Amino acid sequence: MKIHADTVIVGTGVAGLFAALSLPRNLNIVMITKADLESSDSFLAQGGICVLRDEEDYDSYFEDTMRAGHYENRRESVDIMIRGSRQIIRELVGYGVEFAKDSNGGFAYTREGAHSRPRILFHEDITGKEITSHLLDQVRKLENVTLYEYTEMTDIIEEKGRCTGVLARKGEERIAIRAPFTILASGGIGGRYRHSTNFPHLTGDAIDIAKKHGIRLEHLDYVQIHPTTLYSRKPGRRFLISESVRGEGAWLLNRDGERFVDELLPRDVVTEAIQKQMEKDGTDHVWLSMAPIPREKILSHFPNIYRHCLEEGYDVTRERIPVVPAQHYFMGGIWVDSESRTSMPCLYAAGETSCNGVHGANRLASNSLLESLVFARRAAKDIARRTAQETLDMAEQKIV
Ligand SMILES: Cc1cc2nc3c(=O)[nH]c(=O)nc-3n(C[C@H](O)[C@H](O)[C@H](O)COP(=O)(O)OP(=O)(O)OC[C@H]3O[C@@H](n4cnc5c(N)ncnc54)[C@H](O)[C@@H]3O)c2cc1C
Repeated sequence: MKIHADTVIVGTGVAGLFAALSLPRNLNIVMITKADLESSDSFLAQGGICVLRDEEDYDSYFEDTMRAGHYENRRESVDIMIRGSRQIIRELVGYGVEFAKDSNGGFAYTREGAHSRPRILFHEDITGKEITSHLLDQVRKLENVTLYEYTEMTDIIEEKGRCTGVLARKGEERIAIRAPFTILASGGIGGRYRHSTNFPHLTGDAIDIAKKHGIRLEHLDYVQIHPTTLYSRKPGRRFLISESVRGEGAWLLNRDGERFVDELLPRDVVTEAIQKQMEKDGTDHVWLSMAPIPREKILSHFPNIYRHCLEEGYDVTRERIPVVPAQHYFMGGIWVDSESRTSMPCLYAAGETSCNGVHGANRLASNSLLESLVFARRAAKDIARRTAQETLDMAEQKIV
């Protein structure tokens, strides 16, 4: 099968969906996803999405992001993300996304590890589902977008050194999708790990394809291990116990029920402390206690975690739960510039599969949904600019 489009987008998580919503409506857009439309990590995000609360918060937010990233972050990208955050939140609210409110009707902010103040917007503990389902609803309404499920990119099309589309398969069928612009938004690499919070079909396919075509990659060894997933002997995806649970006061305990680390240190530091503690205790996990969090708060802020743990046999309002670190996020990826352009002309990358340098060596909690949205928008705007320019050039040629 052969398909022609103005832009092809690989992936229907927040990055892909927001890119589609940000492209001009006169462009014919094709989106493909390897699984069904709701099986993306974007649907799994629990804790929330960061936002610059006010101008006074800028320095502190910038510094928190840099410190968590071991100062290996690209400063320009961090600035772009933080400066873009308020507009993104306004647009999400415009699409019908609801964030928790305080008693005065303003936004309620929560806190996670390594944030020096609460600046995270959330919707219970299913923020990703709230955001992504609204974006998906909006994209489904667009007449210029065609969505193909269970359609897996197997390669990009390279002609004279530029990208002119993607090759894909849907079951036995082979598909060539030709387009002047391609956006890779195919998420992370967790599917390659035995213990990961990610969907198993997220196997970093775009990274392999980019490598094959000599496209620049960056920091492939920067993989984030999340300190707290629910310990289980069952195979399959690990269930995340969001960092905001610790942000709201939960404790990490060793075999003897004693605290052994400051729970709000950056993820890599807490993970290392847990690893050492497990070795010391000779255990496969440590414990997390939500005892410091009032029962009503657990039920209202973390209903999904509460329900899931109950299904696994733990009542978090009464007892501690076993937790263990697991692969969670990929800071490296396909190198992109500040407009999300890869090193191959006409090929863009956004979201977790890309590396624009925002996260440096370690991602600050709740920066990834935001980063995906901000930089997907920039890819779309760059494509819009170039398409408009090309139309203008063609019109001028005709006049001449
Ligand atoms: C459990 C969990 C909790 C999280 N909590 C938070 C949080 O609270 N705050 C936060 O900011 N971040 C959080 N994150 C991280 C965040 O959710 C992701 O980094 C972000 O959603 C990535 O979005 P994306 O659009 O790049 O990729 P995804 O949402 O993962 O989407 C990838 C898409 O690409 C498709 N795809 C993959 N390979 C192919 C292929 N070969 N062909 C076609 N399609 C393909 C997939 O099917 C999917 O549609 C969390 C992640 C997890 C796993």
